Amino acid sequence: MSHPDSSDDPFRLALGVFALNALPDDERRVMEAHIARCQQCRTEYDGFRDVVAGLALLSEKDLSPPGGEERRSARWPAATRPDS
Ligand SMILES: [Zn+2]
Repeated sequence: MSHPDSSDDPFRLALGVFALNALPDDERRVMEAHIARCQQCRTEYDGFRDVVAGLALLSEKDLSPPGGEERRSARWPAATRPDS
């Protein structure tokens, strides 16, 4: 997958988590607003949803990586955190 627009990376990195419906409410709202106006992320999100349909066969425990809390805090670069 190519990344022609690096400014979009924070959203694209969170797309998989968003597709799993695993984002906190405030971050999910940010993602929904972005996807509504970003064709590129919308296309990728559609792809993630196909993957999630397959992952639905796995338990939630299987989807949780070790150190999940650390990964969560690192998801959004400071400049793009939605809590401003
Ligand atoms: Zn985007």
